[in-house]
Amino acid sequence: MSLLLSGIGVSRGIAIGKAHLMRGSVEVVESAIPTHLLDDEISRFLRAVDDARSQLHALREHIPSGTSVDIASFIETHLLMLNDATLCNTPAELIRELHCNAEWALKLQRDAVVSVFEAMEDPYLRTRREDVDHVVNRILRNLLGRDQRDSGMPALKDTVVLADDLTPAEAVLLEHQGIAAFATESGGPLSHTAILSRSMEIPAVVGVHGVQQYLHDGELVILDGLQGVLIADPDEQTLALYRQRQQAEWQRRAELACIAEQPAITLDAVPVNLQANIELPEDVNASGFDNASGVGLYRTEFLFMNRAIPPGEEEQFDCYRAVIDALNGKPLTIRTLDIGADKQVDGRHGRTCSNPALGLRAIRLCLKDQPLFRTQLRAILRASSHGPVRIMIPMLSTTHELHQTLTLLNETRNALQREGYAFAPDVEIGGMIEVPAAALTAAEFSTHLDFLSIGTNDLIQYTLAIDRVDDEVNYLYDPLHPAVLRLIKMTIDAGNQAGIPVAMCGEMAGDPRYTRLLLGMGLTEFSMHHTSLSEVKNVINQSDISKLKPLVDELLNNTRAGHIPARIDSLNSNLTE
Ligand code: PEP
Ligand code: MG
Repeated sequence: MSLLLSGIGVSRGIAIGKAHLMRGSVEVVESAIPTHLLDDEISRFLRAVDDARSQLHALREHIPSGTSVDIASFIETHLLMLNDATLCNTPAELIRELHCNAEWALKLQRDAVVSVFEAMEDPYLRTRREDVDHVVNRILRNLLGRDQRDSGMPALKDTVVLADDLTPAEAVLLEHQGIAAFATESGGPLSHTAILSRSMEIPAVVGVHGVQQYLHDGELVILDGLQGVLIADPDEQTLALYRQRQQAEWQRRAELACIAEQPAITLDAVPVNLQANIELPEDVNASGFDNASGVGLYRTEFLFMNRAIPPGEEEQFDCYRAVIDALNGKPLTIRTLDIGADKQVDGRHGRTCSNPALGLRAIRLCLKDQPLFRTQLRAILRASSHGPVRIMIPMLSTTHELHQTLTLLNETRNALQREGYAFAPDVEIGGMIEVPAAALTAAEFSTHLDFLSIGTNDLIQYTLAIDRVDDEVNYLYDPLHPAVLRLIKMTIDAGNQAGIPVAMCGEMAGDPRYTRLLLGMGLTEFSMHHTSLSEVKNVINQSDISKLKPLVDELLNNTRAGHIPARIDSLNSNLTE
């Protein structure tokens, strides 16, 4: 009998394939090893560690170019752990000492290491704890002869992978193995893995509770990444329906690829500025990037991740310059460091606090660690002499922070001038509006800034008081909440009144379901992952702002429960894909 499970669709597309259950944790039982077999048992353990190393080396080699540096670093960290005596030698000693099997010795050592991490509440070290588990599970699966997780087995091709959770590195590898789609028990639409699934165009659903409990290995599954559903053991009629939808989806993608060359312009002739979000310099070389008129958000924090020492001025300068060169005259909006909260770079800033998202993050951290900030500002300003650059400040909540930043920028310009460095004198300075306080006072920010960019990922998190990476409260994450819409509208209006451009660079900007709503609200600059550009352009080119505006005004004036989603559906009703 067929079974339907729902979750959160995070990457659009329909997949039909055999289920592949990927169990994260492995059950371990203790058994006694006689003295004369201890050497064999130790060799078995060391072989499993060796295999784990080879798998990770293979994994590293197969990472497609353009994949985030943090994913490669993830693998490096695991390799370092595999070479460390803690996980490599101690279990071997335990086998000899306790006369126990390799699995049990490894489990004992894992528990000992993890209890040390658990005693420290530091969020960064908690992440390291998860790394220990990933490495231990890899060795265990080798010991038990069932490492199907990422051994490159063709069996994974075209399967729908069902996991408790997936790391970004695992998602990359699975894509390489040709999986059709994946679903996970936990996770949210803004997790790195979810963002990655969209950029790799793998249909994905997260937060599907019971996905590993109710579905069986090998059974036929339909996954709909738009609706966020999984249907196991579908009947003939359902199967036929989804096959049709799958064909339509493929057709839609092919058509979308054709509009890459067309300009983004509404039916009433309003040109719309479509830009791309990037995390790494290589992202500008991705296919589909041509659709973008420039970079609306360069998340520079990825350059600072997984390293003990932050990049110096020269390294940053080289990096920013490489992006400017690759953009060949298209403008680059460099966001200053947004670290802290869920984006820790190393133990240094990973201090324990009860509400990291409300703590020392982004501009707050930069203003506190001025040498760090000045180095970045120097590098950006110097790079500005090589092409069009704009600077964008994240997480502003008071104009005092903005004034401090502007003062620092002036001091940096003066210092560069004294030292004889070239820089563009007119670099535009913009602010991200992603804290409700900033949206409510956007008019005041606008008088001191050259542009605004709305960061809906954080704006929604802070407005609705929901942690954007906590899957328990994902169901509350609602871009259409009237409070969120009012803050967005206020920001757009404030920018328009001050005569400065307003863009949006949160995930909402790349979701074609909201394009007409945002156009009707007066937004004409969007920045998103390059894979969403065609879809959003497709909607823009079929939209008439003069007709949308009164409808959206009416929608915003009447926000009673259930009204908004229905109105959005009707706004989008005549769209062709
Ligand atoms: C946002 O908050 O919407 C945003 C674009 O920034 P980030 O997702 O990097 O916090
Ligand atoms: Mg943000």
